[in-house]
This record gives sequence, C-alpha cells and structure tokens, in this order.
Amino acid sequence: MAKRGNSIIKGVEISEIITLLNKAYADEWLAYYQYFIEGKVVKGIMKDAAIAELTQHAADELRHANMVADRILQLGGTPLLSPQNWFTHTNCGYETPTDFDVVAILEDAIKGEQCAISVYSELAELTKDKDIVTYNIVSEILADEVEHEEDLQALHDDISEFVESIKGKL
Ligand code: FE
Ligand code: FE
Ligand code: MG
Repeated sequence: MAKRGNSIIKGVEISEIITLLNKAYADEWLAYYQYFIEGKVVKGIMKDAAIAELTQHAADELRHANMVADRILQLGGTPLLSPQNWFTHTNCGYETPTDFDVVAILEDAIKGEQCAISVYSELAELTKDKDIVTYNIVSEILADEVEHEEDLQALHDDISEFVESIKGKL
C-alpha cells in the first residue's frame, strides 16, 4: 500500500472507496462476460456490425476491470477474489441473453451501459477534490461508458430503421 500516495486522500474514507470500487469491479467482469457471450450468440440482420461493437466493448470492460483492480490494490484493498463475489457485489447485475436477436441484444447492452454511467458518475462525485487519482480513473472509465452507450444506441437505431424500411417495401 502506498503510504504517501494514500495520505493525500482527504474528506472521504478509503475503506468506502475500496468497497465501491470492488462493486464496480464486479460490474466490469460481468459486463465483460455479457459482451463476450452476446458477441457469440447474436443473430439477425447486420449482426456483423453488432459483433464488432460487442467484441470491442468486451475488451474495454476487461481493461476497466484491470484499472479498477490496480487502484483497489494501491488503496490497500483486495480485489474480489472469487467470481461468486461478482454476484453478491454487483451494482448492475447480469442480463442473461434469452432473445439472441440483434435488436434485443443491443437493448440489454444499452441498459448495462446506462447503469455503468450512473455508477461511475456517483464515484466521480464522491472522489472529486478528495481522491484525485481515483477521480481521474473513474472519469476516464465514465467517458468510455458514455461512448459505449452512444455506439450501441446509434447501431440499434440504424438496425431498427433498416428493418422498418424493409417492412415498408413488402
Ligand atoms: Fe466498463
Ligand atoms: Fe461499457
Ligand atoms: Mg464502441
């Protein structure tokens, strides 16, 4: 644990930051696996574009898990050690894909991103002007989650519009 590094944290309990980062850490792993498996099972029109996006987001979520785990360790905490803990600590849960259609898959993924945005925006508010290093990390992740939501929504709208235009020609 970094002594001087942690002595600069003021006005917020380090233990509280560690607890909340571990919850976000659980979310990242579940989001990673959700994107991974969605990219495998997704079906339907324009699925290649969806697979490209889902695969890229899976890699981003795994990178986020890395960033959060490293910060937990710097703060003197321990990242969750067992996948079973992901379910007991998660904020955003896990949406098991039941409908593999591309539009349904994208809708599930958008919900997940909206939850992630709320989680990181709360973490940013908690650490702003108090724990600068965590603040920077969660802000960077927050920007990625905002981009993820936008990418998925844009793709969702393109596919929905395309489906409607085909229906109009029938
Ligand atoms: Fe993430
Ligand atoms: Fe994301
Ligand atoms: Mg993207």
